Amino acid sequence: MKRDVRVACPNGHTFDASVHRSANVTTAPHLRAEIMDGSFNLTTCPVCQIESYADVPFLYHDTTVSLRVWVYPERDRHAAEEIRTKIRQAAAIVESVLPTDRRGPELLFGLEELRALIN
Ligand SMILES: [Zn+2]
Repeated sequence: MKRDVRVACPNGHTFDASVHRSANVTTAPHLRAEIMDGSFNLTTCPVCQIESYADVPFLYHDTTVSLRVWVYPERDRHAAEEIRTKIRQAAAIVESVLPTDRRGPELLFGLEELRALIN
C-alpha cells in the first residue's frame, strides 16, 4: 500500500512522494527484492534529480515466517522506547480483534538491519 508523504532529499529539498508504508512480502514478493537491491521507497527529487531512500517508517510483514516488524528511520533510534510503546498499543488493538502469531523483533532501525534479518 502506497501513501503520499513529505520527504526530503539529501540537499534538503522537500517534496511529496508516493511510498510504501507497509510491505507484505507474502502477497507482494517483489517488495522483498526491492528492499534487498535498494530500490524500495527510492524517490527522485524534482529539484536536483537526486535519488534517495524515503526514510519513513513502514511495516514489514511476512506471514510465511510470522514476521511483522516496524522499520523506523535510523535517526529515530534515540526514541526507541517511545516507538515501542506506540507500536505495542497499536498491535494490542489489532490483536484483540484478530489474534496473530508474531516472531522475531518488533522494531528495527534502518534498511540495513532489515536486510540482515531477512537475508
Ligand atoms: Zn533535491
